[in-house]
Formats: sequence, C-alpha cells, structure tokens
Amino acid sequence: MHQSLETVRESLAQSHTQSKTMAKSPETEHPNKVFGWAARDKSGVLSPFNFSRRDNGENDVTVKILFCGVCHTDLHTIKNDWGYSYYPVVPGHEIVGIATKVGKNVTKFKEGDRVGVGVITGSCQSCESCDQDLENYCPQMAFTYNAIGADGTKNYGGYSDNIVVDQRFVLRFPENLPSDSGAPLLCAGITVYSPMKYYGMTEAGKHLGVAGLGGLGHVAVKIAKAFGLKVTVISSSPKKEEEAITQLGADSFLVTTDPQKMKAAIGTMDYIIDTVSAVHALYPLLGLLKVNGKLIALGLPEKPLELPMFPLVLGRKMVGGSDIGGMKETQEMLDFCAKHNITADIELIKMDEINSAMERLAKSDVKYRFVIDVANSLSPP
Ligand code: NAP
Ligand code: ZN
Repeated sequence: MHQSLETVRESLAQSHTQSKTMAKSPETEHPNKVFGWAARDKSGVLSPFNFSRRDNGENDVTVKILFCGVCHTDLHTIKNDWGYSYYPVVPGHEIVGIATKVGKNVTKFKEGDRVGVGVITGSCQSCESCDQDLENYCPQMAFTYNAIGADGTKNYGGYSDNIVVDQRFVLRFPENLPSDSGAPLLCAGITVYSPMKYYGMTEAGKHLGVAGLGGLGHVAVKIAKAFGLKVTVISSSPKKEEEAITQLGADSFLVTTDPQKMKAAIGTMDYIIDTVSAVHALYPLLGLLKVNGKLIALGLPEKPLELPMFPLVLGRKMVGGSDIGGMKETQEMLDFCAKHNITADIELIKMDEINSAMERLAKSDVKYRFVIDVANSLSPP
C-alpha cells in the first residue's frame, strides 16, 4: 500500500463508522447465511460466529472454502497489534475452495473449478496501479478481512464456510498443487515471490539471506532455491537448523544469537528478505550484506524499527519493502510453484484448534504454516 499507516487507520475508522450507522447486524445485512469463527476483541480469542454474505453478483464467484492458511497477519489483526482492527474479525486470506456459483459476466471460472482467494478482494480497477496489474498498491484496495468492501459493508475472511469474490480477485488453482499445502502460497508465496522479481533477486548463484523461518520464510527458501540462489536462513531458533537444510533445501543456517558465526558472515550476502514479525535490530542484518546489497522488509512488527545509517551509507546498501503482489503476478507465482512442485510445509488443524495454534504461532512454534481443514471441521454448534 502506498498509504501511510495513519491514512489507512483514518480511512478505515471512517468507513467503519459509516458502515456501522448504516448496517444491520452481520447476520442479517446480506441474504446468505455464513458460519465462521471470529475474534470479538483484542484478546484475539476466536469463537463461532454467524454472519452473512452478499448474493452472487454478475461478476462474482462464490467459493465453498476447503482450506485456509493461518498467516501471522491474522494473529497481528486479532490482537489489534496495528491499532486498526474492527471487531468482530473473521481472519483468513489463504483460501482454497471450489467455485459453487459464477455470475453471468464471469469468464475465467465455471462451477466446480478449484480456485484460490488471497489477501485482497477489491480495488478501484481504474487507477495507475490497477492498470499496471498492481491492485495491491491501489489506494482503494480492500483486504479480504478487516476492511470495507465496495458495497460499504464489512469484509470477513476465510475462517468460514464460503466467500463471494469479484472474479478479478480469484485465482485459478493449478491442477498439481494440493489444496491444503498449496493454500499458504496465496499470501506467503506471493509475498516473497513478488519482491524477488521486482528487486532483481533471482539471478542464479547469488546469495540470499532469509531472516525468520516461519510461514513466509520457509516458502522464500523454496522459491529462492527454484531460482538457483544460494540460500542462508538467518534465524533466532537454533532448533530449526537441521530441517532448514535437510527438508527445506537451505544451503546454510545462521543463528542470530551466535556472535562468532554472525561476524564470520559479515559482507557475504547479495540480498536479504526479512520476514521477522516482531521488533528486531536491522544493524546485524545490514552488516551481512555485501556492498550494493539489498534488504527487503516484508514483516510488519507493531512498532517501527531503527534504521542505522552507517552500514547503509558506507556500503551503498538499500532497504526496501513490498506488499503481497498483484493478481496477475499471484497467478504467475502459483503456476511457477506448480511447475517446481513448491508447496508449504503445513500442520493441518481443525477449526476448534485455532486458539492453541495462534498461541503456538506467537511463539514461532509451527512447522511452518498452520492450515485449517475448514470443510471437514467447521460446523455450526
Ligand atoms: P511467522 O510464521 O510467525 O514467521 C515469523 C518468523 O519471525 C518466526 O518464525 C521467527 O523465525 C521470527 N521471529 C518471530 N518473533 C521474533 C522475535 N521476537 N525475534 C526474532 N525473530 C522472530 O509469520 P509469517 O506469517 O511468516 O509473517 C511474518 C511477518 O510478515 C508478519 O509480520 C506478517 O504480518 C508479515 N506479512 C507481510 C506481508 C506483506 O505483504 N509484506 C504478507 C504477509 C505477512 P525464527 O524462529 O527463524 O527466528
Ligand atoms: Zn498473510
């Protein structure tokens, strides 16, 4: 998004106030009854929630949800880490399901197709960003949850039995991608793929550091290996070392709390993708970069990080950011992952296990993405 956090907060607050004064209850504002799990306050505890969704419109695809990944953004949002959560929040933006109904203008999908829905479900479709297939940077981009949709009502995410989405924001899910372990690609996958492409971080043989080995990080390792990069995981969890190398295919592993190894790795990396979800020091990471190195920040800690000028200036280094990806590139990423057999390593959970899963996610204790088996475990009480 090119808006500042303050602008986002303000515009969300405004739309939520407007929609609250206009709205009926979440259960009756639309004709179609939906069941999901929602957080009601910043305790973040999720519990069963009845709400409703709009009728399938002429450009819409209605999706019966099979699986939904659990992103750290879901956790930040239910806990109101960023200060703009509007409860109730039904999280979930790594959705794989089956199209059960398509509107009359829908050309890309038919009933019965397996489809994906990711982080965004709306944009103005006419601005400079939308014209360049960068809907993710449209000033009117609407997130899949904790946002207001084009009709002025609130968006609820994929921890629910179905969703209705404009066809522009629906992805074709490649045949050989499994629905469960493929689901996390819809956020984690595109979030790491897009900056690798945009910032020119795909040259085979170059050395990429991946900071934080969680949902985003472990997919970054796999995608980077498919591009032929040399990959070093930079982690605060020594226990992840063996798997990072043997299962995920990383070339080496660096524990941030080991000063000797950190020192030995100074000036060795061409790029770093930083997926760390909490406040952390950039100084040691910038030190790992070669001259002209790039650090691309993807994690969204709740407070600003300190940006040390000396390593940046003295090494002509750069720090950038990146927000998911546009719809065209998301499709490209899914096709790329299908071609290279890239999926997430997942722990499949039932809907009623979500609260303990969130507690584990907060402690970086997941290998490496929780995915909810929505279709087989979500049933109204
Ligand atoms: P995740 O699975 O929880 O992974 C984050 C990793 O960060 C953890 O596994 C851990 O890795 C490291 N970490 C966590 N707390 C730490 C701490 N206190 N100090 C040092 N390292 C710590 O989360 P995720 O789903 O990958 O998301 C990561 C971040 O990206 C979140 O902030 C999320 O909101 C954001 N995000 C951004 C975008 C975007 O478009 N830019 C999209 C999706 C998510 P180690 O154990 O290896 O240290
Ligand atoms: Zn996400």
